[in-house]
Amino acid sequence: MSTTFTRHADRPFTADPVEEADVIIVGSGFAGLGLAMQLERDQNQSYLVLERADDVGGTWRDNTYPGVYCDVPSHLYSYSFRPNPDWSMVRSPGHEIYEYLQTAAREEGVLPQVRFGTTVLDAAWDEVSATWLVTTNKGTFRGRFFVPAMGLLSDSKVPEIPGMETFGGELFHSAAWDHDLPLTGKRVAIIGTGATAIQLVPELAEVAAELVVFQRSAAHVLPRRNRAYTPAERRMFARVPESRQGLRSAMFWFTESTFGERRRLPQSVAQVKAAVDSFREAEVPDQALRAALTPDYEIGCKRLLYSDDYYATFGRDHVSLETSALARIEGNTVIGASGNAYEVDVIVMATGFAAARPPFANIIRGREGVLLADHWATGMEAYQTITVSSFPNMFLLSAPSAATGHTSAVYTIEAQVQNVMEALDWVRANDCAVLEVRADAEAEFVDGVDRRGQGTVWTEGGCNSWYLDPGSGKLTLIWPDLAYRFADEISHFTPAAYVATPHRPRTDR
Ligand SMILES: Cc1cc2nc3c(=O)[nH]c(=O)nc-3n(C[C@H](O)[C@H](O)[C@H](O)COP(=O)(O)OP(=O)(O)OC[C@H]3O[C@@H](n4cnc5c(N)ncnc54)[C@H](O)[C@@H]3O)c2cc1C
Repeated sequence: MSTTFTRHADRPFTADPVEEADVIIVGSGFAGLGLAMQLERDQNQSYLVLERADDVGGTWRDNTYPGVYCDVPSHLYSYSFRPNPDWSMVRSPGHEIYEYLQTAAREEGVLPQVRFGTTVLDAAWDEVSATWLVTTNKGTFRGRFFVPAMGLLSDSKVPEIPGMETFGGELFHSAAWDHDLPLTGKRVAIIGTGATAIQLVPELAEVAAELVVFQRSAAHVLPRRNRAYTPAERRMFARVPESRQGLRSAMFWFTESTFGERRRLPQSVAQVKAAVDSFREAEVPDQALRAALTPDYEIGCKRLLYSDDYYATFGRDHVSLETSALARIEGNTVIGASGNAYEVDVIVMATGFAAARPPFANIIRGREGVLLADHWATGMEAYQTITVSSFPNMFLLSAPSAATGHTSAVYTIEAQVQNVMEALDWVRANDCAVLEVRADAEAEFVDGVDRRGQGTVWTEGGCNSWYLDPGSGKLTLIWPDLAYRFADEISHFTPAAYVATPHRPRTDR
């Protein structure tokens, strides 16, 4: 074994001097934990997980707003190697997924390796020692391999609204919900009509005295039709593993069957359009309101949303739809681009995340100090969605071209984790110090993904979504193909695409 570092599980954490591990992972969401669990099972490499928050869970720890649910069925939106027969519902509430991740991290034994409250401020490739130096608020860490798994939906995006500083009420982002703030009887504005807003709007309408929803563009909505699993079903999932495996497989292939509309296959589009239109017609009898809630772009261009009660909420007397963007704030008055003004006590920003230009790209420096954000000047890209030339020994998880618009993110994360585990095995077997993807391999892979993106609803569907790079307009976030092809093409390490440098004795430390 070529590793020179030791495991730290039994050693108490000290910020200084430097802690070291073979693999430094940043982030303890599905991606970071998924890799940590495999490394823990494997026992061949030491690892540390750096996490800025005080618990694991990522998305599902941070998003606790009322009504937070996963759109993807839970037997599919979970690790294949950690089935949970006890999901309470077909699509779980956020807190259940959070608890699932907490339990998984504890039972898989990764918690001793997680450094909580540790924010990565800078990560730089050190040519001399062939290691990554990771600077945090708790000191510097050193790793032979560096794995940013920092999420694309983990840094909130709050637009600068003129007059924001004059607002006398409470203003917060949906991912930083203040559960101590009573909303009962308050006048509330919610900004945005994306995946979060659609879950929040019916909940806010239950408690607010008045609710105004600022909509820049309407959403395509299908009924959610969630339901609780019966005790008998849960017993069956626990006792007969094949039953939940079969269900997971059926769920996966059902979601794959919806990919046709993203490829704009006429029959698939017609089918889903009929379902969306008839749902809106049934739920919104008022013609003018229905027109205002009808999107002007193709289905799937932005995330297709699921709610049983979103549309019906607009039929309530105390709920208003403002069909323009929030343009300015004057004291407690929020004013739309239309000129319409509303008096409010609370503003909820359901305005999404810094997804296509993730902040972590501004703190990662590769060979000769090159900044990842500069390498990504025209948008995020990576070979097999994981490795980047000039950034040796770095494996990205859940970043460029790794999201899917139609199925479970955990599925693509697992394919990436398998690739990284194979890469680490290969490096060990070949006694290699530095592994770097060839620039031509990266470019060829990215060209292939770009080509597949052409003609999809994401590039041709007439909307401006967060899946596109805001500078170049390139589709950089989404894997523009079926998910099973992602697994086929991504889950295996391909040594031929890399330059591998043999292990050198370390004389610098
Ligand atoms: C409200 C909501 C609903 C969603 N619903 C679905 C769904 O239905 N289906 C689906 O497939 N996907 C959904 N997603 C997407 C979801 O983000 C992914 O499915 C998945 O959870 C991402 O996991 P991750 O580990 O990549 O990132 P995250 O879960 O975001 O984890 C990243 C971690 O990195 C940490 N971190 C970031 N920067 C630093 C730093 N500088 N230093 C230290 N730590 C850092 C963060 O604190 C966080 O814990 C949803 C997202 C949101 C926000």
